[in-house]
Amino acid sequence: MSKKILTASVSALIVASFFFFGTGRRASGASGPPGSKASLQGRVAGILGEYLEATGQDSSEFAAALRELSPKTVLERFAPEKIQAPEDPAQKLQWYEISNAEWIVRNKIARLVAIEDVNLDENKVAVLCTAREIEAVRALQKKHPIAISRMISPADFPPRDAVYHNYQETLAFLQDLQAANPNLISVFSIGQTHEKRQIQAIRFNTTEKGSAPSQKPGIVFMGTHHSREHLSTEVPLLLAKHLAEAYRAAGKDSEFARLLEQRDITIIPLVNPDGSEYDIATGSYRWWRKNRKINGDGNIGVDLNRNYGFHWGEGGASDQTSSDIYKGPAGFSEPESSAVRDFVSAKTNVKVLLSYHTFSELILYPWGHSNSPVDNPKDRETFKKLAETMAQWNGYTPEQSSDLYIASGDTTDWAYGEKGIFAFTFELSPKDMWGGGGFYPGAEAVAKTFQANLKPALYLIEVADNPYKVLGSPAD
Ligand SMILES: [Zn+2]
Repeated sequence: MSKKILTASVSALIVASFFFFGTGRRASGASGPPGSKASLQGRVAGILGEYLEATGQDSSEFAAALRELSPKTVLERFAPEKIQAPEDPAQKLQWYEISNAEWIVRNKIARLVAIEDVNLDENKVAVLCTAREIEAVRALQKKHPIAISRMISPADFPPRDAVYHNYQETLAFLQDLQAANPNLISVFSIGQTHEKRQIQAIRFNTTEKGSAPSQKPGIVFMGTHHSREHLSTEVPLLLAKHLAEAYRAAGKDSEFARLLEQRDITIIPLVNPDGSEYDIATGSYRWWRKNRKINGDGNIGVDLNRNYGFHWGEGGASDQTSSDIYKGPAGFSEPESSAVRDFVSAKTNVKVLLSYHTFSELILYPWGHSNSPVDNPKDRETFKKLAETMAQWNGYTPEQSSDLYIASGDTTDWAYGEKGIFAFTFELSPKDMWGGGGFYPGAEAVAKTFQANLKPALYLIEVADNPYKVLGSPAD
């Protein structure tokens, strides 16, 4: 059944059901004078029609479920203004500082709201959440001596952030690199988002193009699972540019050219384009974190870095659709995380993965869902050694992800747990909330942050043939 026909038939059924259950006064059509029953019927039918159109929900079961709803429910849950609700003060995000938040308490907080920063020296965290959510955190005060205070939001960055790439500019950037380096680079899509944007990948491989398999040691870099972390798109984009330019400049017999000829490198700079476009759509930032999944209850979005299907939903994630850390209805329920899963699963040559986020200046490795270290002692040592080596160059803090607080369903737990890939999360600059620009550190952060993180990226490319070699022991 086509969407159009479905929409029309659902509308007809809804209108018909109102006639049936109505007062017996027959209206002549779906619209009538404002405030009349017929006008309400028309509005309800229109809302559901638009909703079906927007979500692309084609199943007749879904239409039947909608038909069961009362007009009041439809108006409350499905009206466009309810779904968007950008100006609703109850939905407005605020920064709060929570002090006396030691590890146990941090984990309780992490189940309720998104912890955006942790200051270990002073045992305090910064969270970005709604007024209602902070009340849930406040309830912890019964058992824990935490103190909660409002923080002044860092200033939004206006158009002087033009150096950042939006979705269209990102696509053009990748296409230009491919056009200039056709022997080295291919650009392709790993899948589509809810809003039908392509999740674009750029591959560096001198022999294989697109999604063709390769025997060469593989490595994957990713950026912007979280919409507002725009710097995490820029760093992988600049890495792609650097690899292309350095390959051309190095000359055929150089060490660098030989390295690239022996590697299969994929960069996916913008995993969540729906969210990042939404974040910048009005010209001032919206602090949006999740994707743009319509949850069907008036709340939008799933936290993609809580949606990976390995120990999914085991802690530090929420089952509330309104939460910034909403884990989704199931592991890999989202097209974006599923696209990454399918892409990485097909590439059995991948040994190393790096997912860029912002902010805090951290190098994180598994586990996130558990405070035990990874079982295999050799893997544990390798993670540690890789992280500590990279930290020498970017000055970030290397640690197991759960040292900060438990978070389940993230990319790196899945990549290591399911695929045995040495997977890292970098939390890029700035270092903290307490003076640094947070998610919006401005144009000047781009080149600086890329430079600090170039050597770690090149190092991971170098060791991707056998990460165990950093232990100085024979190849495994
Ligand atoms: Zn993030």
